[in-house]
Amino acid sequence: MEEIEKQYKKQIIEIKINNGFECKKCGSNEYHIKNEIVIICKKGHKETATVNTAFHGKKVPIFKAMAILYAVQDNYKNWFANQNGLPSNWGGYQEDEKEDIREKLSGATIARLSSEAVASKFEIQKKTAEDFINSIGLWVAENDSEDYEAYEEWIQGLKNAQSIKAYESLFHLLFYDDKPRSEEGVFYTLVTGIIDNEPEQY
Ligand SMILES: [Zn+2]
Repeated sequence: MEEIEKQYKKQIIEIKINNGFECKKCGSNEYHIKNEIVIICKKGHKETATVNTAFHGKKVPIFKAMAILYAVQDNYKNWFANQNGLPSNWGGYQEDEKEDIREKLSGATIARLSSEAVASKFEIQKKTAEDFINSIGLWVAENDSEDYEAYEEWIQGLKNAQSIKAYESLFHLLFYDDKPRSEEGVFYTLVTGIIDNEPEQY
């Protein structure tokens, strides 16, 4: 296992334990940790890191999953800046930084990063990208019963009710009050299903 993947799994175990681990099979909350990434309850039931999280059974590893979600978030941020003008602290940027930002903004012509773009950027199949994004959105929708609406531009062109639902929840996962949520916050939600208010770190 790649080191970065193991780090993510260790973080998942930490979150599960901090939230009060309870074995899904027997309800026990006595456990020990094996190899840093497996929880074993008192009766011997094993729970690997990704079980009961949004990362379970995905074709993409966790580090890539997070990078994809960040690319989707970043694209929307850039698209939004494109619509609403350049950052207000534009004057504070160095010339080469301005160049980078101009380049990013000029690429962000649609609000929702397409699964084709995700596939090519992350070197995965388009179907894998599509399934991944949909399943993350639907997992969030399942775990968080509130209904959300997303901006027209975000869901534009989606063909069926299920994809719309998936993307509405995805928006809610990635943004809070229209502000991008932190990587930590997004990760926490994908482990616990809980969307926090996230007062800090913007
Ligand atoms: Zn158990």
